[in-house]
Amino acid sequence: MKKVTTSVLMAVLAFNISCSTMKQNSTTEVATTNQNTSGDESMKNNPFMTKSKLQYEAPEFDKIKDSDFKPAFDYGLKQQEQEVNMIANNRMVPSFENTIVALEKSGEVLKRAQIVFYNLSSANTNPTIQALDKEYAPIFAAHSDKIYLNEFLYNKVKSIKEEGLDQESKKLLQYYKQNFEIAGANLSAAKKEELKQVNQDLASFSTQFSNKLLEARKQGGVLISDVKELDGLSADEISAAAADAKAAGQPGKYLLALQNTTQQPMLQNLKNRATREKLFKASWGRAEKGDANDTRDTVEKLAKLRLKKAQILGKQNFAEWKLQDQMAKTPEAAKQLMDQLSKPAVETAKREANDIQDLINQQKGGFKVEPWDWNFYAEQVRKAKYDLDDNEIKPYFEITTVLEKGVFYAAEKFYGITFKKRTDLPVYHPDVVTYEVFDHDGKSLAIYYLDFYTRDSKSGGAWMSNFVEQSHMMGTKPVIVNCYNYQKPAPGKASLISYDDVTTMFHEFGHSLHGIFANQKYTSLSGTNVPRDFVEFPSQINEHWALDPVVLKNYAIHYQTKKPIPQTLVDKIKKAATFNQGYMTTELVSAAILDMDWHTVSKDSDFKPALDFEKASLLQHGFTLGTVPPRYHTPYFAHIWGGGYSAGYYAYIWSETLDADAWEWIRDNGGLTRENGDRFRKYILSVGNSVDLNKAFKEFTGRNPDIKPLLRNRGFIK
Ligand SMILES: [Zn+2]
Repeated sequence: MKKVTTSVLMAVLAFNISCSTMKQNSTTEVATTNQNTSGDESMKNNPFMTKSKLQYEAPEFDKIKDSDFKPAFDYGLKQQEQEVNMIANNRMVPSFENTIVALEKSGEVLKRAQIVFYNLSSANTNPTIQALDKEYAPIFAAHSDKIYLNEFLYNKVKSIKEEGLDQESKKLLQYYKQNFEIAGANLSAAKKEELKQVNQDLASFSTQFSNKLLEARKQGGVLISDVKELDGLSADEISAAAADAKAAGQPGKYLLALQNTTQQPMLQNLKNRATREKLFKASWGRAEKGDANDTRDTVEKLAKLRLKKAQILGKQNFAEWKLQDQMAKTPEAAKQLMDQLSKPAVETAKREANDIQDLINQQKGGFKVEPWDWNFYAEQVRKAKYDLDDNEIKPYFEITTVLEKGVFYAAEKFYGITFKKRTDLPVYHPDVVTYEVFDHDGKSLAIYYLDFYTRDSKSGGAWMSNFVEQSHMMGTKPVIVNCYNYQKPAPGKASLISYDDVTTMFHEFGHSLHGIFANQKYTSLSGTNVPRDFVEFPSQINEHWALDPVVLKNYAIHYQTKKPIPQTLVDKIKKAATFNQGYMTTELVSAAILDMDWHTVSKDSDFKPALDFEKASLLQHGFTLGTVPPRYHTPYFAHIWGGGYSAGYYAYIWSETLDADAWEWIRDNGGLTRENGDRFRKYILSVGNSVDLNKAFKEFTGRNPDIKPLLRNRGFIK
């Protein structure tokens, strides 16, 4: 089954919330002895002051306290500023070493503190972290501007020649040059000042959006008094809802907590139509209640500020600015791809809607299908058409078995890598587990953290991130984390997940493999630090192993009987793979187009209030099916307002084009073989952003990517 999961990749620029392609720079060996800042008393015992003593510099969570961040940020900002000034004011002739490499090495303490901070801010936040985030977002944005708008520095960078540099160093030089240009180093002094203010405001509003939304999601759940209204949910789901209500101070009731997407997983099973409607409307309206957590005003401000930023930078609109270093390069190229997909998607969704309406009529429902009915009846259509019942499948997907005997096993078969559980590394939450990853020759490769379960302190969705990024120059190896929001089972119960959840796990681990196999000299070009419209390619490729017969046989084991999944059930899963693809593609493409529309506005007066803008955008692109709302509604579209996917949500589809095409190549060349794995690792997973990625793709498959495999994969063409 091919679908884009709920994943958010936050690794790439996790700590750069000011939505630029710039990065705070990497660590340096010499910085801790920097005399100008060494007398700082408050940093004496700060865990970010020196490299972690743990393997691969894994964070010392047993020592890190919330109170360590502020002094580390302040010290780190000062330290990097001094380092950058020294580079800018260096009287020597600018060289790759004394400028680019020096920049790449600057900001050691800051980087160390930020990377842990932003991981915690997503995975285990609290009021202290939220307040710090709010306080420092504009400060970090201003700091980044100080570096990238520094004229002396830019002139130096510009003057450095590529001659004599190795391939990766050349790429790093180009990368820095482009970052300076994208940031506005070419601008006049007055324009630069204006831009700095806009960047700080953007950072503040983006943080404000995230904090509001987290609270809105927390408060947006539906409280149910009578268990009868939950008819259709499993006993485990009901006891989880009871536990959630109790935790929220409502013992004896049931709380249906919201997931971050429009559709809520429980809608599939809830028999009571009124409860379904309540839950759907709670999801849809979570951040537009006119209260303190209403995000509409913030969203509108962000959109206008982004246009202003683009105009200062000499572009027509934000998307044009944003896409210049992506594979797509222009908003037109991205839109063209989406248009090729939206028509067949909507046509298919219409047919699916008819199937659902027929079923409702057969059952004498006496109503017209609404979005809160879709998954409930789609599930029945699926059962009728494919005889496939999610509840029949779930017992074969026990969470740890899926991980170790499925996800890890596939990586072992394809790449030859192995995993060993570690119990000695400190973690930031008792639910987190750790593994060490070994290469095919037995050499240690990376440390891998895993954080399965949902909690109020965690953002919604699933993602991969780094605690330490790989770099030969810095002598660092990858330390990686995958976060999910699976329901924690009641004590003593097995954790059973849906097939969707299974593919999400393969997906996120695909990102992790991209990080694990990183083999770069420079951090900035390492691992998943690639354009956004490429980054989902390795993760989507990895999803395919979920249904590989060899892999599936190994992990899909009934949690009680220990029997492997019967072939008949596997056949059903495969046959149902293109089921509901009209809906799923439409909700995805409409969200992607909505994002692109928000960011291709070229005149301030063309903005409308958030909800009106969304309505007009959907209508204009032919998304007229009210039963298929976008995957994210503007007020809670966190990817684009809080995360780094602004004018970038199309990246999932762009990457999927690469994925579907490359997958056909792998399938046609023997599938799960070590030879294919080595080839994919060589051309795609290990090159980071150190080569031309369009070329890398072509080297892997021997051809340019084509959209047909994607259309085939989603069942739109034969
Ligand atoms: Zn992803």
